[in-house]
Amino acid sequence: MKKKRIFISEAHKGGRELFFIKKVFKDNWIATEGPNIVGFESDLEDYLKEGVQVGALNSGTAAVHLGLILLGVKAGDEVICQTMTFSASANPILYLGATPIFVDSESETLNICPIALEKAIEDRIYLGKKPKAIIAVHLYGMPFKVDAILALSLKYDIPILEDSAEALGSSYKGKKCGTLGEIGILSFNGNKIITTSGGGVIVTKTLENKNRAIFLATQARDNAAHYQHSEVGYNYRMSNICAGIGRGQMEVLESHISLRREMHQFYVDLFENIIGVLVFKEPSDDFFSNFWLTAILVDETKNGGITRETLRAALEVENIESRPLWKPMHLQPIFESYPYYGEKVAETLFEKGLCLPSGSNLSDEDRKRISETVLFVFKKKIKNI
Ligand SMILES: *Cc1c(COP(=O)(O)O)cnc(C)c1O
Repeated sequence: MKKKRIFISEAHKGGRELFFIKKVFKDNWIATEGPNIVGFESDLEDYLKEGVQVGALNSGTAAVHLGLILLGVKAGDEVICQTMTFSASANPILYLGATPIFVDSESETLNICPIALEKAIEDRIYLGKKPKAIIAVHLYGMPFKVDAILALSLKYDIPILEDSAEALGSSYKGKKCGTLGEIGILSFNGNKIITTSGGGVIVTKTLENKNRAIFLATQARDNAAHYQHSEVGYNYRMSNICAGIGRGQMEVLESHISLRREMHQFYVDLFENIIGVLVFKEPSDDFFSNFWLTAILVDETKNGGITRETLRAALEVENIESRPLWKPMHLQPIFESYPYYGEKVAETLFEKGLCLPSGSNLSDEDRKRISETVLFVFKKKIKNI
């Protein structure tokens, strides 16, 4: 019999999601307005602190799209985007008819490299076009080098759109991810640290921007008794049912983060004595990661030829899911014609990197299967200590 599949990251129910949903069913708030939406937004505002405003939307992608609009991005503009990320960070640039300019990662946090970023900014300015915004991502929950990136944002006066889709609960120098850029976004897709089945939020510094995002997300209706529109609108608001799931999930967020961090520690211990495998860790005490996913780098030149693919295939035979790191956007057929600045760090990370099962609902039995498979693959590569 085939063993139960161990997934990279799965939805993990809390306890009270149905309670919040039933309440609005009873009151017939089955709509894109209602008490769960307002409640979920204020739960997040309290959690994120820094006085931010939160607007609930039906996806993280929608939040990136509206975020770029709030930052004034228009057709023909250029927008810098971290190349190593999920396509949803970059697609909204194309929705707007703007041009993505991709920038490499550094190998400590896997996120946008300050040196490559500055080169890109200088070159675009030299070529006659100052980028309108910088999309920086906290991949797998690890904060990007916030001080260095914010310093460049300030120096060149280009706002940061902080893609915190994977980083709810992570922080940098004690400040929560999502609150660090001019605009932040979070995602509650089914595989994220908490879920609303599908959903996202935009995080703004002003109430004015939050209201503007909600206005655009609800078909841009002008203030009139009839339906009156002076701008392009979108249907991007979160459903009150989904927001109910979110409220239930907020109650278990902290425990999900602890469990994911325990999974990360499990991998640190597991790979400690295995040659040629690096487990990515927080570079210093300034960084706090929710470790949404634990990522490793497998260097076959150090371990006698065992590649990332050797390990991935062996895990797959045992019905354990693992996945290469995000394929850089500048290598994707849809984006390969756009400019790219960097030293191919992201390419190497993509070739050698692997994400391992990191869910908050994994059991001791699951961990045993994972460690037995890993130890089997690396059986001759264990340091004598
Ligand atoms: C999940 C994700 C998104 C998009 O969020 P959705 O809610 O799935 O639309 C954006 N950026 C990154 C980095 C993500 O991982």
